[in-house]
Order: sequence, then C-alpha cells, then structure tokens
Amino acid sequence: MANPQTSSTSAAARIGLEIAAPNSTSVDREARFPREAIDALKAERLLSAYVPPELGGGGLGMIELSQLCEILAQHCSSTAMVFAMHQIQVACIARHGLGSPFFKRYLTDLVEKQYLIASVTSEAGVGGEMRTSVCAVEHQGDRFKLDKDATTISYGAHADDLLVTARRAPEAAPSDQSLVLLSKAEYSLEQNGAWDTLGMRGTCSPPFKLRSSGSSERILSVPFAEIASNTMVPFSHILWASCWLGIATAAVSKARSFVRMQARSKPGTTPPTAIRLAEVSGTLQMMRANVHDVAEECEKLMAQPDAGADVLSSMSFALKMNNLKVATSQVLVDIVQRCLLICGIMGYKNDSKVSIGQHLRDGLSAALMVGNDRIYATNASMLLVLKED
Ligand SMILES: Cc1cc2nc3c(=O)[nH]c(=O)nc-3n(C[C@H](O)[C@H](O)[C@H](O)COP(=O)(O)OP(=O)(O)OC[C@H]3O[C@@H](n4cnc5c(N)ncnc54)[C@H](O)[C@@H]3O)c2cc1C
Repeated sequence: MANPQTSSTSAAARIGLEIAAPNSTSVDREARFPREAIDALKAERLLSAYVPPELGGGGLGMIELSQLCEILAQHCSSTAMVFAMHQIQVACIARHGLGSPFFKRYLTDLVEKQYLIASVTSEAGVGGEMRTSVCAVEHQGDRFKLDKDATTISYGAHADDLLVTARRAPEAAPSDQSLVLLSKAEYSLEQNGAWDTLGMRGTCSPPFKLRSSGSSERILSVPFAEIASNTMVPFSHILWASCWLGIATAAVSKARSFVRMQARSKPGTTPPTAIRLAEVSGTLQMMRANVHDVAEECEKLMAQPDAGADVLSSMSFALKMNNLKVATSQVLVDIVQRCLLICGIMGYKNDSKVSIGQHLRDGLSAALMVGNDRIYATNASMLLVLKED
C-alpha cells in the first residue's frame, strides 16, 4: 500500500510544478483565485489530508501538512496560503468536533466532496484580535442567526463553507466566543470592498458582510478559547510559517541560479555575490530549523493520549507559537531582500527568470497577517506573569 505521506508530497510537488507555477503570474497579476491548482489539490483529495483515516481522510499530521505548504509555496504563494488556511479550519473541526455526529458526518462528506472552508475571524471594530468578537450567535429554538461585518475573508467568494467566530450569545462577553460552521446554502456574502493589494493577491480576501442562519448543531460545543489555543493558533502559525519558508526557499533558489550563471560566465573565478549567497543560505537554514522544530514538537504533543491539552494551552507554548510567527515573518523579508541584492537588476525586473518582486510583495503580508505588534503586545503581557522558563 502506498505511504499516504510520500504520495501526498509527490502529488503536491507535481501540482506545484505543473499547475501552480505556470499560473502563478496570472494569479498575481489579475488578483484571481488559483482555481487550477485548487482543483488539482481536490482531485488528489488533498483538501481532506488532515481528516482522520477512519472517516476516509488522508490522516496526515502537522509535519506533513507543513511540508505540503512549503512545497506549494515554492511555486505559488497564494495556492499554498489558501491550502494552509483551509487545513487550519479542517483541523479545528477534526480536533474538537468529533464528539458530534453532525461534524463527523460533515468531515466524511468533506472527504467525498472536497469542500473548501474559509475562515472568518477578523471583524470590523476588532481587527486582527481573534479572541474578541462584536457579532453574536442569536439562538432561536434549535436554530441560530449570525451576521458579521468581516474585514477580510480569503477566497470567501470561492469557498463552500465558512468557519466563523462570534460571541456565544448576545449577552456574552467579547471573549466568550463560539466557532460556527456555515454552509453555502445558508449564508450570503455581500462584498463591500476590493482586494487590490501589494501581495498575496490570489488569496482574494476582500471585506464582506455576512448574513447566515442554520441549525444549532453547526456550533462547535467546545468554547473557542480552547479551540484557539489548542488548535487554531498552532496550526495557523506553523502552516503560515511553512508557506513563508516556501517563499524564502524559492527566492534563495533564484539567487543560487543567478550566482551560478555569473560563475559560468567567468570560468575559474568565484563571483563576489557567492559570499552573500553563502550568508543567506545559512539564514534560510535557521528559518527552516525553526519551522520544522516547532512543527515536530506540536505533532508530538498532539499525538499524546490527552492530545497534549495542558501543554498546548500553557503560556510557554503560546509564546513559542507567537515567536515562530513573528520571527519567520521578519526573517522571510530579510531573506528575500538579500536575494534581491544578489540578483541585482535581474531580480528587480518582473519579467526575468530570477525576478524577486513577487516574493517580496507576498512576503510583506506576513507581518500583517495578525499584526506583529499585536502579537508582541500579547507576548509582553505573558512574559510579565510567566513563572516557568
Ligand atoms: C493575505 C491575508 C489573508 C487574510 N485572510 C484572512 C481570512 O481569511 N480571514 C480573516 O478573518 N482574516 C484574514 N486576514 C486578516 C488578518 O488575519 C488580520 O486580521 C488583519 O490583517 C489585521 O488587520 P489590520 O492590519 O487592520 O490589523 P489590526 O489588528 O486592526 O491592527 C492595526 C495596527 O495596529 C497594531 N495593533 C493592534 N493591536 C495592537 C496592540 N495591542 N499593540 C500594539 N499594536 C497593535 C497592529 O500591529 C497593526 O499595525 C488576512 C490577512 C492577510 C494579510
């Protein structure tokens, strides 16, 4: 029997090279959804890569998902980020919803139909503070109503379902939140702004006014506070960082081919840029070690019989996750800028084989995807009270 991990990575590598890469320029230029690559991922049943095997899914873990994101991002950052964001939503349901027949059935359907799930945490009035909501779930018998003024919904117009944060009830505090799965038949999205951005243009993430209603079984019974610390934050920060690692790897690979080209043009000499290449390749190695180390630690914790719940919800773990996000988002831009300096004008041109522009534009989104200062502020408060090392 084929090893699902090996077959998934080789499928992602093929899709990256043959489908995502040739479409990435038009995805970026036209700010269009990477339809071809996402359809190819569906055809390989990779949208259910994290669904447990007993429900028919791929049963992959954090390390493999991280590898898939890294591979895809080397070819098309938007494809990789859409894939990563979808897997984060699947993980929240798979790790916190399996006590419910509804969510079990949903994941079984997702395996068959390869639904794409988008995330709706950001909201007008709270920005990127995921642990605060203005909107609330309004219960009406065994049904609910939920409206949200969402500032950013990546691939909102292309998703089959949405996973939305909201206050548990109209009388609940802003941080007393639920996570609700909405199905396309039961929600409407009114786009009220554009997505004409510097980078990550293919994620197609404009603001929307969301209106929905549904049956109460669509509300995860576990409080969002627990889902966020145990799953949404670790999966987000590790899979985003994996996408950023793929972008950095692609930039360094272009810098390497540029330096080799220079070396070939003057045989017997070492181009001066080779020193800078050696330097940036060391920085990339540190970035890779950080991402892989945290992904491995997380996978080990999640595989424990109690799913590592105590550690996952601890302050020291939250700090580690936040440090990964902030560090990788910063070093990504540093690496890409150094690659630009190595490639010089050839890197600055949009039509050259070693063009670095899109990597830089895409990479600049990393620090904003939940603002780094917001994360530093959270870390600062935790460090003031953290007792253990
Ligand atoms: C490519 C991309 C895709 C995205 N996709 C989605 C998606 O699918 N779904 C979704 O819900 N969201 C999505 N987002 C939104 C994202 O997760 C953040 O919510 C959003 O980028 C934050 O918006 P903002 O910059 O207005 O931040 P805000 O959080 O409003 O912050 C504005 C500024 O204030 C600073 N700031 C805020 N609070 C503090 C503080 N306490 N201390 C210090 N400084 C602070 C921030 O650092 C930032 O500089 C996406 C973002 C990007 C870039």
